[in-house]
Amino acid sequence: METTDGRRDHTAPLVLVLFGAPGVGKGTQAQILAEKLGIAHLSTGDAFRTAIANQTAVGKQVQRYVESGALVPDELVSQIVAEELQKPQYRSGVVLDGFPRTIAQAQALEKILSDLGMSVTAVINLVVPEDVIIDRLVKRGRKDDRPDIIRHRLEVYHKETAPLLQYYQEHSTIPVITIDGNADIETVNQRILSAIKSRIRSDAQP
Ligand code: AMP
Repeated sequence: METTDGRRDHTAPLVLVLFGAPGVGKGTQAQILAEKLGIAHLSTGDAFRTAIANQTAVGKQVQRYVESGALVPDELVSQIVAEELQKPQYRSGVVLDGFPRTIAQAQALEKILSDLGMSVTAVINLVVPEDVIIDRLVKRGRKDDRPDIIRHRLEVYHKETAPLLQYYQEHSTIPVITIDGNADIETVNQRILSAIKSRIRSDAQP
């Protein structure tokens, strides 16, 4: 959020979008960042896996998409995020992990946040070479980490999610910060925190 003289408002809640292909470490980094910055963490993938495990109405709706590595339809994801972000725990800020994943979702997010008097502070684009990603995912061994499904998820990323980066760069003033994610967890985390500190918020503690 910007003040009237164009400077960034340092009292506005931090809303960080963790962006990147499957397997770049979004989930791990999002969790640590949220903890260190004292803000909430929202992972749409985690929410879906829990809903599927509990066989809730949402779980039943999203199961076939999640298990085949396809994207859950934009409207459904956006509706779930809109409902979730109404909760008071998000008022002091949030690390969004795995959302938005399409331009339509990014537009929905803008509206959801603006209704709450909030806005995206920055997009953190985590980059890891594809051979490292495949190796990490195969080792992680989640149900959707089978080689054929991994391949499909990477295709979906390149086709539907990667264009979102250009959208943010060309159609918004939201900073996109690219971070080399090919290092150990703590090193990557320090890289993200110091980028936030130097480019966005001097009160983010690396
Ligand atoms: P993730 O844990 O972020 O890798 O997400 C696991 C799966 O959940 C994805 O492969 C999609 O099927 C689904 N999913 C998670 N987030 C989204 C989203 N923002 N839009 C559509 N589908 C999603």
